[in-house]
Amino acid sequence: MGTYILENEEALKKVLENMLRKGMVEGVMVQTAGESGVFTSIITDPDFISKTAPLAPLFSNNNAVFLQNNGTRNIAVVVKPCEARAINELKKLNQINTDKLVVICADCQGTINPRDGLITEPLTEAKKKELEKDSIPIRKACTVCEHFTPPEVDISIMAIGTTGGYILATDREELLDGLELKAGEIPSGRNAEVEKIRKENLEKKEKMVEELDKKLGSPDTLVEFFKDCIRCDNCRDMCPICYCKQCYFETPLGDLRTDEMLHQAATKGILRIPPDILFYQLTRNIHVAAGCVECGACEEVCPRDIPLLDVWKSITGNVQGLFEYVSGMKRDEPLPLVGFKESELEEVK
Ligand code: SF4
Ligand code: SF4
Ligand code: SF4
Repeated sequence: MGTYILENEEALKKVLENMLRKGMVEGVMVQTAGESGVFTSIITDPDFISKTAPLAPLFSNNNAVFLQNNGTRNIAVVVKPCEARAINELKKLNQINTDKLVVICADCQGTINPRDGLITEPLTEAKKKELEKDSIPIRKACTVCEHFTPPEVDISIMAIGTTGGYILATDREELLDGLELKAGEIPSGRNAEVEKIRKENLEKKEKMVEELDKKLGSPDTLVEFFKDCIRCDNCRDMCPICYCKQCYFETPLGDLRTDEMLHQAATKGILRIPPDILFYQLTRNIHVAAGCVECGACEEVCPRDIPLLDVWKSITGNVQGLFEYVSGMKRDEPLPLVGFKESELEEVK
């Protein structure tokens, strides 16, 4: 693996620009700072790369959603670790062709939702303090995130452990052709620093899950938890791991119309609308549990402010923990339910 020094974010932009100018990729999906704020864009003209903010600590959705069923043309994408993990997971589900993507991912020190504030420069401890003073919250998912460093990707950008600037690491050195980058080294203190942050976040996550488990003990408390859901489908549509090509809830059996609702209402004399909220949520839980990347995109887009992430943290920890699997960290690791051998889990026989 080659490791190189990137002095600053501008040097990363040069890497992106070079890939476009040299025709290694036909486009770059990256955050761009425009007059109306920061938004994700696909850039085909290398002159626009100067306007990008690849390391802006913003997250309003998981951009892996927009790469699902990608086509045949090469693009580079600059993503957060939870987005890169979703890409890897979708690859295993044959819903993303990673041969046509150059995935670039940087250490993530937390993000904010653009509706809460806009910053374009990478997050540092000093910047976090400033945000706190201005009452701009770091997203809940980020405060309890255990996987904030790049998983298996084409180009990793490391900030944690460096004393300013970044280390770029890649096995695909051909992507740097034409650039004169100085060789660098992964800082010796990096692992210890990563583990320190991970431990802090894990403690917060465990507290979150403990509090949720106290609340949710029975089907009745689950009904109560989801009582405000209006079945808008935002959580499903913006979840990168909700992968079914045909959702049950869009079939005649799942997407109930008045005749069917009348039929169901007749059983008890009354039917709550929208129907089947718990069934909907549990279906998503069953389908997504082994692959959820804990990005929190579902919670960000819920118009009823249901703390969906808390549920996912609990379910994902239990299910993925059972299979000793962490979704999306590697590209070729079999999915738990595909690689599962009967002899592995005697207790579920
Ligand atoms: S959940 Fe983790 S990887 Fe995703 S944006 Fe937050 S800190 Fe970054
Ligand atoms: S269920 Fe929520 S937290 Fe999990 S991958 Fe989907 S959007 Fe992200
Ligand atoms: S986003 Fe919220 S309100 Fe909409 S379906 Fe999901 S849980 Fe229900």
